[in-house]
Amino acid sequence: MDNITVKEQPVCRHAHITEKTKTGGTPYVKGWCEYCKAFVYTDKKFCICCMKRARHETHHLGLKRILNSGIQQLEKTLNDFESNPIGMKHNELLYGEIVYNNKRYHIPMKYILLYKQNKVPKDMYSEIQDHTTIAR
Ligand SMILES: [Zn+2]
Ligand SMILES: [Zn+2]
Repeated sequence: MDNITVKEQPVCRHAHITEKTKTGGTPYVKGWCEYCKAFVYTDKKFCICCMKRARHETHHLGLKRILNSGIQQLEKTLNDFESNPIGMKHNELLYGEIVYNNKRYHIPMKYILLYKQNKVPKDMYSEIQDHTTIAR
């Protein structure tokens, strides 16, 4: 019996999505695949196009810039939430609008607040990414 581990090369099947694709209602999260050089559906870790580990960092750099700019733009609202966390609870679905690079991003306030408080764990960025929409 051969006991050789075959290390398969990733194969891109060109099943890509765009930055604007929404993943709500699918079991996947949006990610950036370095191998496919495209936005792809991932099962949180792997690109479902080529099955190679998808990386999120590249895109999250942009997300962090947007969030940084957001905590300045939404300073007053965030301060209100911080002094009245009860109000935040009642507004779980509240979105904050952040204008960045001539685009309007809608991100749930709870994430913007966590970011302001430095409480966003690394693996939460893809979740935030997934809940971010771009309005024209
Ligand atoms: Zn691909
Ligand atoms: Zn891929």
